[in-house]
Formats: sequence, C-alpha cells, structure tokens
Amino acid sequence: MNCKDFERLIPLYLKNELEDKGLKVFIEHVTNCNPCKEELAIQFLITEGMQRLEDGDTLDVERELDDKLIQSIKRLERKRRFSTFFILSEIAITLGLIVVLLYFLVL
Ligand SMILES: [Zn+2]
Repeated sequence: MNCKDFERLIPLYLKNELEDKGLKVFIEHVTNCNPCKEELAIQFLITEGMQRLEDGDTLDVERELDDKLIQSIKRLERKRRFSTFFILSEIAITLGLIVVLLYFLVL
C-alpha cells in the first residue's frame, strides 16, 4: 500500500468501515509511515473533534488515536486466532471421521 492509497482509506477507517484485509494493510502502513500517521491524526482530530465539540467533551488526539489503533490490532489478532482455531477444529473433525471410518472398515 502506498501513501495515496492510505489516505483514501482514512475516512473508512475512522468510520470503522474497513474490512479485515484492508484493515491489516492499513495498520501495517500506519505503523511504519510517520507522515501518514500524522495525516490520520489530523483527520481523526477533524472528525472526532467536531463530534466532541457538539457533545462538549474534550479530545486527547494522540492517546485516543493510539487506543483506536490498538483496538484494531487486537481485533485482527482475535480474528486470526479464531481462524486458526477453526482450521484446527476442521482438521480434528476430519481425523475423527477417518478414525470412525477405519473402525467400521476393520470390523
Ligand atoms: Zn504513508
């Protein structure tokens, strides 16, 4: 992903509308590219800040954006773990079936 692609995805990210694959490359890019992280912080400030002004709350951009990024990383991690678990259970079920089949064939 280049910086132009990244910029196009920022509004989607802030609305939590990136699907997992997009989210993964988005996070990888922002953790390695300072100009894009700054751009993300600015857009976060604009979109979140406007909302907060209306609600009368304050906004700690750096901390809250970091929180948001950490949440995204955790979400990806959970998905990854879940799919590993899913694949392992598929293997276990298949092996179980093979054992049952062999059992009946031998009998
Ligand atoms: Zn970049």
